[in-house]
Amino acid sequence: MSSTAPTLHEKLNQLRQRFIEQLPARLQKTATKWQQSRLSAEAESRLAPDFHRFFHSLKGTGRSLGFERIAMLADQGEELLKATSASADPASADPASADPAFIDPAFIDIDSLIPQLFQQLNEEIAYLQSQNGQQAVLASLNSTEFSSVAPTARSKRQRLIYLCDDETDQVGQLLHHLRCFGHEVVHFEDTESFFNAVITRRPDAVIMDVQFPQGNTAGTETLTSLNRLTGEQLPSIVLSSYGDFYSRLSAVRAGCNGYFTKPIKPLDLMLAIDELTTPLNEEPLRVLVVDDEPEAAAYHSLILEEAGMIVQQVNHPADALSALDCFSPDLLLIDVYMPVCSGEELATIIRQQSAHIGLPIIYLSSETDSQKQLSAMTAGVEAFITKPVTPDELVSAVRLRAERLHLLRSLMTQDSMTGLYNHSTTTDLIGKTLAQAYRDGSQHAMAMLDIDQFKAINDTYGHLAGDQVIITLARLLKTRLRISDIIGRYGGEEFVVLLKGITEKRAAELIDELRHDFERVDFHAGGERFRCTFSAGISSFPSQPSTEALRLSADQALYLAKQQGRNQVVINNDNGAEYSEPGQHGVEKQ
Ligand code: GH3
Ligand code: MG
Ligand code: MG
Repeated sequence: MSSTAPTLHEKLNQLRQRFIEQLPARLQKTATKWQQSRLSAEAESRLAPDFHRFFHSLKGTGRSLGFERIAMLADQGEELLKATSASADPASADPASADPAFIDPAFIDIDSLIPQLFQQLNEEIAYLQSQNGQQAVLASLNSTEFSSVAPTARSKRQRLIYLCDDETDQVGQLLHHLRCFGHEVVHFEDTESFFNAVITRRPDAVIMDVQFPQGNTAGTETLTSLNRLTGEQLPSIVLSSYGDFYSRLSAVRAGCNGYFTKPIKPLDLMLAIDELTTPLNEEPLRVLVVDDEPEAAAYHSLILEEAGMIVQQVNHPADALSALDCFSPDLLLIDVYMPVCSGEELATIIRQQSAHIGLPIIYLSSETDSQKQLSAMTAGVEAFITKPVTPDELVSAVRLRAERLHLLRSLMTQDSMTGLYNHSTTTDLIGKTLAQAYRDGSQHAMAMLDIDQFKAINDTYGHLAGDQVIITLARLLKTRLRISDIIGRYGGEEFVVLLKGITEKRAAELIDELRHDFERVDFHAGGERFRCTFSAGISSFPSQPSTEALRLSADQALYLAKQQGRNQVVINNDNGAEYSEPGQHGVEKQ
């Protein structure tokens, strides 16, 4: 991870600043419309919904972003409009008797009050801007609210691992394997610098070469002081030269989670790290946020992304349907008040399509009127959340409702051995991506990978060892490629990857890096060590205009890679297949 990546607070501040910057223009536009609306009854009734929506969304977003005064002024605007529109509606019953706080509309001078509110809003914006954005913004920000949302800022599957080992002979090999699977590994040779690092930057797991021979308490002390230092138990794995019962018992008592005796098999260690640090269902939840206000959508997206979810934002309700198809969310978060159509109408449109019947929907609105909330719920939504929502509230509401569908889906769409997408899901997702690519003109590359001489691996080392190779390659693809890329197990030892938004040349470079790292992974079976390679063929969109064309073209290049000696990546471009990066071929037995 780059250390210059903005923190959550910086991102929030950017969002707040953007919100304030665009507000004067919005306010100006609304004020002009207001003047027009005063010219005729026709204009007044035509424009009325716009003013209501303006104040309503300003209230919600202002409050979410911590601009209390703006939210309060917007709330006054909304109340004024409500009171006067109720009086204009002959069907409405006299509410004065029911509501003691009712203001008789006859006493409301809306023609001067609304422009006054515009003026007050302008003054507040000018004040916030004069504070140079940052300070005022920071002052209104409740920073502690975010503390319990997921701490992860690294790429979703990457872990930070500290390796404390002074025996240099095997460190290189361990580092290679752990880094090969996308983990960020920092190596320490002495306990002091290791402890210092644990304090300044908390790792996801630690691997320590410590000794627990009988009578020697150094190992126990190291682990115990580590836990004291952090105030919690860090996932820890011990590497030791002793495999006897008492050494192991000391390690267990000191709270270690894994114990490996030397010589260490790096792949086993890597799998243990995975098991220790990976949540049960590691595919992140996907949430589609539909909100006409970009800042509100960005704010809620930020909260959910910070909790490890993948979020797509849509600012126009009409774009929601295609986004549902392309993005396949586990949950939909809809703003209730939008132009063009309301959240209720959108939910109804979605519910009328059988493909989306089970999709959980959550409404997000500043509407506090419980009667209105209730009527919104009749469109078949799962929950109604009132703005401003705290990050914890939003994250847990989304998790609670999205996880069931998410799990059910993963069972249907994933290959059980590798957790990658199965054949039909892969084809389906690639098809959707291409449909979108036709609309936005993006380019994508496809890679077909096939393990070299896999039959020989099965024959020599057994089927279980073969399975291990498949799982390892799947793991490598998952940890090293981007979360947005589509990675599928196409058949036995064949994989398909759609690398989004990159050229075939860049895709070939990426896959070749993986090829190079994979050929150096050590596998173990029946006391023997062996290595494996794969070959790959690359094709690209739009020169291959369909999933099938892409597949055929990548397959052709793969065939050529096999013919040319395996362990290499071949690009199939328009001018015929192009040879790239030859490697040493085949199964390398050592
Ligand atoms: P090439 O380099 O040309 O790809 O040769 P290959 O031996 O890899 O190709 P071939 O297609 O002849 O063999 C693939 C083998 O993969 C045959 C099949 O038994 C094995 N296989 C398919 N699925 C699995 C699996 O899930 N686990 C294991 N262990 N083997 C599998
Ligand atoms: Mg094959
Ligand atoms: Mg093969």
